Amino acid sequence: MPKFSDGVLRFQRDVFPMKKALFEALSLGQTPEALFVTCSDSRIETGMLTQCDPGDLFVCRNAGNIVPPYTGHTGGVTASVEFAAAVLEVPHIVVCGHTGCGAMAAALDESSVENLPHVREWLQFTRLAVANVKSRSEGKSPAELQEMLTDENVILQLEHLKTHPAVAERLARGEMRLHGWVYHIKTGGVRVYDEIRRQFIPVADYY
Ligand SMILES: [Zn+2]
Repeated sequence: MPKFSDGVLRFQRDVFPMKKALFEALSLGQTPEALFVTCSDSRIETGMLTQCDPGDLFVCRNAGNIVPPYTGHTGGVTASVEFAAAVLEVPHIVVCGHTGCGAMAAALDESSVENLPHVREWLQFTRLAVANVKSRSEGKSPAELQEMLTDENVILQLEHLKTHPAVAERLARGEMRLHGWVYHIKTGGVRVYDEIRRQFIPVADYY
């Protein structure tokens, strides 16, 4: 049996009974505290990282934790953002990038996605962040550039979020807060973007 289906059996046997009351309550509906936008990367485990229970986070994942700017075109991210903001009325949106992100590496080296037209087009939503990083690239190693882009991309996607009408409306009413995070896979560290100081600082210092 594949590892993941075997896991379902263990979940049903060992985990579900311990949280039975929670799942019963959740069967009636959800009131998540945040929309959590992160990368599809298999190394990110949102529930484990935030120690949240099912029902706490409304999660939207894609390559590069990207939120396309609002255009009126329908897409999966746009629909999830609209639903989370307008219907679920989440008080927080987190955009969480991560170290070693393949999408960020590809955005810096477009030739690597030459034969992946959809990935290439998707990464156009990081273009301004890439330009920003390339303008400061002198003397930097590829690893440093990727780290810089990971940060800049989170900041850019936060700006894109603000263009979505349902988000803009709730921000204007003071009913929502945006958070930019970068998760460090090797250390478990999380840095948070401080909009006032315009830099990322450790999660423990930010909140
Ligand atoms: Zn990634």
